[in-house]
Amino acid sequence: MIPSANIPPGSIDKKWSNFKSSCELVAPANRRKFRILVVGTGLAGASAASALGEQGYEVLVFTYHDTPRRAHSIAAQGGINAAKNYRNDGDSVFRLFAETLKGGDFRSREANVYRLAEISVQIIDHCVALGVPFARDYGGYLDTRSFGGTRVARTFYARGQTGQQLLLACYSSLLRQVDLGNVKIFPNHEMLDLVVVDNRAVGLIVRNLLNGSIHRIKGDCVILATGGYSNVYYLSTNARKSNASAIVRAFKRGAGFANPCFTQIHPTCIPATSEHQSKLTLMSESLRNDGRVWVPRNQEDKSKDPRLIPEKDRFYYLEQWYPSYGNLTPRDIASRAAKKVCDEGLGVGPMGLGVYLDFADAIKRLGKDTIAERYGNLFEMYQSITGENPWEVPMRIYPGPHYTMGGLWVDYNLMSTVSGLFVIGEANFSDHGANRLGASALMQGLADGFFIIPYSVPHFLATNGKNKISEDSPEFIVAEKAVSERIKRVLSYQGNHAVSEIHRRLGKILWDKCGMSRSHAGLTNALSEVKELAEALPKLIRVIDEGEGLNYALEHALRLEDFVKLGELMILDALERKESCGGHFREEFQSEDGEAARNDEEFAHVSVWFNQNGLRLETEKLTFEYVKPTIRSYK
Ligand SMILES: Cc1cc2nc3c(=O)[nH]c(=O)nc-3n(C[C@H](O)[C@H](O)[C@H](O)COP(=O)(O)OP(=O)(O)OC[C@H]3O[C@@H](n4cnc5c(N)ncnc54)[C@H](O)[C@@H]3O)c2cc1C
Repeated sequence: MIPSANIPPGSIDKKWSNFKSSCELVAPANRRKFRILVVGTGLAGASAASALGEQGYEVLVFTYHDTPRRAHSIAAQGGINAAKNYRNDGDSVFRLFAETLKGGDFRSREANVYRLAEISVQIIDHCVALGVPFARDYGGYLDTRSFGGTRVARTFYARGQTGQQLLLACYSSLLRQVDLGNVKIFPNHEMLDLVVVDNRAVGLIVRNLLNGSIHRIKGDCVILATGGYSNVYYLSTNARKSNASAIVRAFKRGAGFANPCFTQIHPTCIPATSEHQSKLTLMSESLRNDGRVWVPRNQEDKSKDPRLIPEKDRFYYLEQWYPSYGNLTPRDIASRAAKKVCDEGLGVGPMGLGVYLDFADAIKRLGKDTIAERYGNLFEMYQSITGENPWEVPMRIYPGPHYTMGGLWVDYNLMSTVSGLFVIGEANFSDHGANRLGASALMQGLADGFFIIPYSVPHFLATNGKNKISEDSPEFIVAEKAVSERIKRVLSYQGNHAVSEIHRRLGKILWDKCGMSRSHAGLTNALSEVKELAEALPKLIRVIDEGEGLNYALEHALRLEDFVKLGELMILDALERKESCGGHFREEFQSEDGEAARNDEEFAHVSVWFNQNGLRLETEKLTFEYVKPTIRSYK
């Protein structure tokens, strides 16, 4: 059963302060007696671990990377939102809250979203204090820009490297705690299982990736900050190693998985050039502030030099279809629009899967220096990947998998359905409903880690006390044995295919049938294909590298098994959701003019899947007291 969401009493603007002033605390002298296990060192994990270390707890942090700084967060480009209203352009906490709810197509929890908007204001001050070099204007004040789905400029940024600067700040906080002896970091360690006793998380089974040794680690609570699962599609903008194993393992141990089919397709990726590509590169959404999106009106012009196509023959489809937001419509709308024009045969570049993002007007209006200051590194990155000079010819972009709004279900305190298992950052089902607005993932990761966990974890520890299950207990021994046997089993597979080849096959099924556009027939077909793949896996794959020590193919094979399980769950969830919401366009449910048709009567809920005695679906009803659901229009 889904536990209570534990939303504090009071009006929406008082809930968080009510919780903060009434939650239980652990006295300073007792804190070092509690051990907290954190998996993940991205913005969410590093901020949570350093904040809890600062409070005086014993914190152990695990990452499969060789250093915490390699967490995927380092790649975030465009910026981080905050309702500071420095621009005096009409922003407020309430506006950020309302836009996030609307952007998410009214499929998120009001109380959580309000708190996120409220905390956003503190995040920027905290990060400035940590030394994050945010962009500043001529007068020295913090500069902001706009992202999709909003009509204010509330996005703080550090060139196109905001995630990098934020992660370095979190990392230095973390190292300060390492130096003080409160935090211990275990790089090159992968969590392979969660140990749960009587529905309380009591520890982890981790594998040292360098020598293959397996360890039982006991803790008084566990925090998963393991990022998103877009790599289930194989091609995505995420780091190559990002995966879903930690949350799938927790799901298998009883944690509810919310809205697994809610994935975000980002409109501005560099288009794939062939079937064999292994990674997509994101071009930040911030580029849509100044770049204009278009395709040729006539198919004959598709292979022409775009500079020679006259203005009258260019179709600025976003500006025409969505005049009030233009090129800054939210990601789901912009992605679907790009797919539509490409499906109509107007796409440019290899395989006809691309649209232009053109800076010629902006360069003319603002000058090259200003554009270079705003996006210089993104232009360089585009040129080094494509070999085309975006100062001369328009960039080409196409939608690609980017972010996952689905994840483990959490209550207001960010605790999953397993007691003592907290889930933060992109790994939880988050505050973004059916579609995340740009620049709000960094905001959520830091809100969770620096501001919410430091209250909710002590509250849990003070209320529940220490975990009394030792590492030598039968539960830990059984869990460790299961992990060792699983590794032996995967190493014994004798198929003829590399793991990545089968992963690509899974990704293609999901992209084609459970991606931007979905239908009952396609999903049903995908479900049987994925089930077949799951069954055939032992006969298909072979782990080419040898041994239980450092073995990338083994790591990938274990993750692939979990991706296959997740793929099935995503399809089942997509089948159940008989409505179009956010970027999840069910072809059967659309308005007369082809827009997504939401069904609030039957689907204003969070779908939560459990894996006990087979798969079971439960729902958490969503109610909207402060912002009434409206039909989302960006026209
Ligand atoms: C290219 C790109 C650009 C983006 N730009 C922006 C932006 O401008 N603004 C914005 O708001 N958002 C942006 N996002 C989204 C944002 O970057 C992510 O949502 C966010 O960084 C996720 O942070 P996280 O801490 O939850 O996870 P991550 O940063 O992904 O960290 C996950 C951590 O978990 C560890 N881990 C995972 N599984 C295990 C395991 N089993 N065992 C041990 N360790 C494990 C990893 O080693 C890593 O340390 C962007 C995303 C992409 C892909």
